[in-house]
Amino acid sequence: MTQILLENVEKRFGKLTVLHDINLNIEDGQFCVFLGPSGCGKSTLLRMIAGIEEITEGDIRIGGEVMNDVPPAERRVAMVFQNYALYPHMSVYENMAFGLKQAKTPKADIEKRVNEAARMLQIEPLLDRRPKQLSGGQRQRVAIGRAIVRQPAVFLFDEPLSNLDAALRVHMRSEIANLHRDYPEASMIYVTHDQTEAMALADKIVLLRAGPDVTKKGSIAQVGAPLELYHRPANLFAAGFLGSPS
Ligand code: ADP
Ligand code: MG
Repeated sequence: MTQILLENVEKRFGKLTVLHDINLNIEDGQFCVFLGPSGCGKSTLLRMIAGIEEITEGDIRIGGEVMNDVPPAERRVAMVFQNYALYPHMSVYENMAFGLKQAKTPKADIEKRVNEAARMLQIEPLLDRRPKQLSGGQRQRVAIGRAIVRQPAVFLFDEPLSNLDAALRVHMRSEIANLHRDYPEASMIYVTHDQTEAMALADKIVLLRAGPDVTKKGSIAQVGAPLELYHRPANLFAAGFLGSPS
């Protein structure tokens, strides 16, 4: 069981409160999208779940266990970043294998997992290349492959497609939907500011809003299924945000 629970979570950077009163329940196998305008705290919330950003107040539980002080490597989560974050001096194969080597996974097991993921993502012919020899879409596939090989219980995506051109973005969006289908037990949390992407991918959308000025805290405006938010926005913010073009 890998249900994720956030209880009264607050995040402050010095005197600045960026997230306030976050209560959230993400069920096993759910595709949850954090949607909201730039600066509302989406990435910060995701990074707290990943364990690469500290929680100021409140608790995060994964599978019932409080994770506040558990290091990222022990959380069974894998994160895919907007800028891919690949190691430039390593081949595609080495990039995908790196985390497993660190975790002392047996070599045969590493080979099997990397080759399987590469086949699935159709990047097998690229395994010997360096990241700079790849297109944006290929780099993002490698970044997704690096997450898959870790066999995480939770996939975390931070605007993974926002550096790609429009056509490729639509294509990669369906690949991410396929990934969800291929790993039905894994939970997915996907950050975006693009409501079309959110509507296409989400089982559940968590709509976040920033405060009225930079000194005010971000909070949850509404949680629900895509059509629920679309047809029954809970407040003016939700109605305005979902009605506006991205
Ligand atoms: P989003 O991903 O929704 O665009 P972020 O989570 O990146 O928003 O940022 C939320 C707020 O927190 C912003 O006001 C941002 O400037 C602030 N913030 C993020 N990281 C830091 C940091 N390390 N130090 C200080 N402020 C930060
Ligand atoms: Mg962000």
